[in-house]
Amino acid sequence: MATTDRQATTLALAHALSAAERGLAVIPLSRTKLPALRSPHRLDPVPLPCHGECGRFGHGVYDASTDPARIRALFAAAPWATGYGIACGLPPHHLIGIDLDTKTGTDSSAALRELALRHLFTIPDTVVVLTPSGGRHLWLTGPPDVVVPNSAGRLAPGIDIRGAGGYLVGPGSRTEHGVYGTAPGTAGLPPAPCPPALLRLLLPPPRTPAPPPASSGGHGQGLVQFVLAAHEGQRNTRLFWAACRAYENGIGPDLVAPLIDAARSTGLTEREARATIASAARLTGQRR
Ligand SMILES: [Zn+2]
Repeated sequence: MATTDRQATTLALAHALSAAERGLAVIPLSRTKLPALRSPHRLDPVPLPCHGECGRFGHGVYDASTDPARIRALFAAAPWATGYGIACGLPPHHLIGIDLDTKTGTDSSAALRELALRHLFTIPDTVVVLTPSGGRHLWLTGPPDVVVPNSAGRLAPGIDIRGAGGYLVGPGSRTEHGVYGTAPGTAGLPPAPCPPALLRLLLPPPRTPAPPPASSGGHGQGLVQFVLAAHEGQRNTRLFWAACRAYENGIGPDLVAPLIDAARSTGLTEREARATIASAARLTGQRR
């Protein structure tokens, strides 16, 4: 029914605007949970890679915004939208979604608890969104300088990760399977920081060549080489990995200066390098 659809759109817009007030960038979604606006480039003979530089809507999560005027414009362009997506990985929250599925018949919540026991982290109190199919989304925040990739079933069957470039269906969205809503008592919570031990599980395994053990080459020379060999696009990730391993092996403080030198020769600024190494120190528990 058209009227019902219009109400669903109005409701979705209201929920999207209140999410944006919390600093969460949103896009309109259709009933199928896909971005409601199709790509303006879909009919181009040779589609150019565009993330919205053309100025038009329809670039999926790249359309996401916290600006109420832009959100209203997005929904006005997609009057069939009945939900909204929340972009992950963007400042200020750098949202990470832990998507616990039940459709596969696996108990993904139990799998997450088992991971927590094995890797010694506690799942914090945070926003939990209940999906119409009985699944749950845990909202966590990440550090600003770490890119968490999307993954499906990599941690355990039924556990998907929504990271940079991904989105979460926002609470209050209506899809063809039903309505998404927050779990009782969690709507007002701020998204909790991702536990460091869990964050390390979410980061991609290093690309080839694998980082050598910290001990090889003496005094972490292998780790310095690993950073030196980084291509643009993996510089920060490699530096982060190397610094984590250095701290885990007790040679972190000694390796700060060599790692900064190596990072600078790959094109990072000293400030960027220091921030990444400081993150690694924090995440490996070298707080004091
Ligand atoms: Zn474009």
